[in-house]
Parts: sequence; C-alpha cells; structure tokens
Amino acid sequence: MDAAEFRRRGKEMVDYVADYLEKIEERPVYPDLEPGYLRDLIPTEAPCEPESFEDLMQDVERVIMPGITHWHSPNFFAYFPAASSYPAMLADMLCGAIGCIGFSWAASPACTELETVMLDWLGKMLQLPECFIAGTHGHGGGVIQSTASEATLMSLLAARCKAVRRVQAVESERSESDVLSKLVAYTSDQAHSSVERAALIGAVMMRKVPTDEHFAVREEMLKKMVEEDKAAGLIPFYFCATLGTTPSCAFDHITKLGPLCESTENMWMHIDAAYAGSAFICPEFRPLLNGIEYADSFNFNPHKWLLINFDCSTMWVKKRTDIIGHWQIPLGRRFRSLKMWFVFRLYGLKGLQAHIRKQVALAKEFESLVQADNRFEICAEVILGLVCFRLKGSNELNQNLLKRITKSREIHLVPCQLSGRFVLRFAICARTTESRHIQRAWRHITQLAFELLQEQSESNKNKKILSLICVKSFLISSIWCLITKSCFSPEFYYAS
Ligand code: PLP
Repeated sequence: MDAAEFRRRGKEMVDYVADYLEKIEERPVYPDLEPGYLRDLIPTEAPCEPESFEDLMQDVERVIMPGITHWHSPNFFAYFPAASSYPAMLADMLCGAIGCIGFSWAASPACTELETVMLDWLGKMLQLPECFIAGTHGHGGGVIQSTASEATLMSLLAARCKAVRRVQAVESERSESDVLSKLVAYTSDQAHSSVERAALIGAVMMRKVPTDEHFAVREEMLKKMVEEDKAAGLIPFYFCATLGTTPSCAFDHITKLGPLCESTENMWMHIDAAYAGSAFICPEFRPLLNGIEYADSFNFNPHKWLLINFDCSTMWVKKRTDIIGHWQIPLGRRFRSLKMWFVFRLYGLKGLQAHIRKQVALAKEFESLVQADNRFEICAEVILGLVCFRLKGSNELNQNLLKRITKSREIHLVPCQLSGRFVLRFAICARTTESRHIQRAWRHITQLAFELLQEQSESNKNKKILSLICVKSFLISSIWCLITKSCFSPEFYYAS
C-alpha cells in the first residue's frame, strides 16, 4: 500500500467507522456464537500472496463483526464504560503514524513533555493538591499507564522498596528477605482482583479488610487489622483504597483512612478510582475525592469515562523520587498523551463535565424506574453511573432473569455478588446512550421479569396441585391400608 492508496483506503475506513458507530444500534449488542467460531471461518495459514483490501474488508463483516460484543452500542450496560470519541480516534491515528517509542526524553521529546503537561492539566481539572502537580519545579507528577492494574502494581512495588529502606534504616542487621517476608498490604474485600494480583506479583501478604453495610472500608476496620498484625510482628506497609468499587461503586472513607495510614509508620496509601475518577472533574462530585491529600499515589482510567479511548490510565505520585525505577513495566511507550490533548481541546472541560453529568442523570432515571416497581429493589446507593438492582426473591430467580436478558441480546448486563446476593449491574456506558434507551431497556427487563414471574407462579400452582394430589392419594392409601390391615390382620381374624 503506497501513500496514494493509503489516502483512498483511509477515507474509506473513516466512512466505515462512522457508519459502524452511527448504525451500531441496529446490531445485536451481544454475539450469538459458540466458542471457537472463528477458526473455521479463516484459513489455517497466512496468505503467501498479497490479498485485496476489498476482500479484507468483506471479511471484517463476515468474520469479525459477528463476534463483537458492541461496547459502544447504547444498549450496552455491562461492566463499566470503555471511553470512545472521534477526537481520541483521530489522535490515535496520528500516534500510529508518528510511531515513536517514547522510553526517554531523547527518544521523542514531545512524547515525554506532552505527557507531563497533560497529566498536570488533568490533575488541575480534578483539583488535585499542588503536591501531585509536576509544573516546572514540583516533586510530584503524573504518568500514563496502560491500565489501573499496572498502576496498582507500580505503587505496591514502590511502597515495598520504601518500606524495606525504612526498616533497614533503623534495624540495619535485618536482611531484605526477612523484611519482605513480614510486609503486609491491605485492601477492601470489594477491591478489584488486580489489587490482590499486585500483591502476588510483589510477593507480599495481602489482607482483605471487611466492608460496612455500604460496601466501604471504615477506619476502625483497618485499624483493628493493622494492630493485630503489628502485635504478631508483621509490618503493615501499604493500603489500596478504592473510590468507586467494581461491584457497586462504593467509596472507602479516605478522609479517615488517610490519617490512619500516615500514623501507622507512613503506610503507603494508593487510591484506585479506575471508574469513578473521571467524575471528579465536576465540582459536585469532587468531594468524593476529599482525603486525596493523604494519598501517596492516585490512579484512574480516563479510558473508562473521560472519552479517551483505551489505553489511558493516569497515575500521580506525591514524590516522583519514590517511584523512579518503577514508573512502568514495559520500556516502550506509545504517544498516548496525544489523545488526551485532542480530547481536552476539542471537548473542553465543560464538554467533558456535560458528558459525566448526562450519564449520571441517566443512571438516576433508571434508578427511579426500578424504585417505582415494587417487584424490584435497589441494592446499593446510586452515586454515579451504576445502578445495582434485583428482583425481590431468590438468587436463582435473578440468575434466571439475567439468563433471559443475555439470551435476548437486546441489551447487555453483567451481575455481581453483594453480601451473598446475586445482583444485576446496570452501568451507563456508551457515549450515545439517551433517555429512550434507558426507557426501552427497562421495558425489556420488566417484560422478561413478568414472563419469568408468570412462569414461576404457574409452576408453583402446578406444584401445589401436585402436592395436593399427593397428599390426597396418600390419605386414601393410608385409610385403605388401615381398613385392609385391620380386616386381614391376624388380630382381626382371631378377634372375629
Ligand atoms: N480497579 C477498579 C475499581 C475497576 O473497576 C477496574 C476495572 O473495572 C480495575 C481496577 C481494572 O482496570 P484495568 O483494566 O484498567 O486494569
């Protein structure tokens, strides 16, 4: 493909992408396939001779599209959102064209410098304390990671190094392996699995702190565990708080947990706000981030909710010196700050705030619909764009409802477990979701619930009739038995 053909094909591709996104609603949101479907549709080996672009694009529709779960369909309400916008896609094209590997300043000065400035811009949008802003003389600053999972791991590794240095500064005879074997990290029992994985990779103990009735960690709970562990000779060194937990979007009490971490020999506090972080650009949601001043590191995913396509996970530290050597796992890095720059400039802070507010309002609209139907219940406070709800009744009933929703492929949801209860999660995801999609989704859910409850009450009725018949026939046979037993028993015989 030469430049002339690239121009032509590029324009065609832009049209294909715009058509795909404009008409995405017409496609079933969830594929109807069995695992392994794709292998039979394409050759077992790569072609020897070049093929045509037309053939390739035909196969995109024949092979790929049937196997896509359409995350950007306004009927997609599963997981958390995956951000997407045209400015970010255009920036990604440019990033691909520049194609630099920005592992050092010299490897592409603009790549390193724009990233630092974009993290400052975003940090200021979130009103992060000054200590997290790099500026020209700051000690803190930010970096783009691929995922929140990587940010958590980086923070844990940095905290681990710091803890070993701190202990050895006081007890110089203690070996590194001895200290490492005593380190203990903490996180919520609602934290994302990536936090536990970070401890596994970092080869340190991790304890899960039980949460309160709102699925949040409170200071007393962590304090008790820390004190027990210290008494047992362990060294508490790291706490990962969550703002916006994956199952129910709960918020740990960082205003109280922060001072506790500080007073516990400067236990490192990392904040994972993967989903919720984007909302903090709105002044009305910013109080949810109060307590950030106690954190050593903070991370969230603009690639979830801030209209910047995957991957873009932003992480800030108070002291860059703590994390130098642990900035990221790979050496190579793409020019990801370009898509931040494009999105920030083409939407402006106001445009981004409008996006967040609209999606929170849609979640509230869905919450009201659930609340107005007394067959259903809300299972966790709705703070941002996630609604956890269920049919009043057994876990099995709710599992069956979700099975029907998934099978219908009109909307897509995933479940979670809250205090042992099977709960349905309804997350506002696509940028193009409107009130009509919420209303339609609710009509669909209630129709399926109606059918399910109807069938259940039919089958309960049948069960009742069956058990009445059983009782009746048992009674008849018992009476018959009594009669026959008394007539043919030796006692009756002898008596007569
Ligand atoms: N932390 C929280 C609270 C999450 O909700 C998620 C994903 O939804 C993650 C971490 C993992 O995010 P990532 O895929 O960026 O590692």
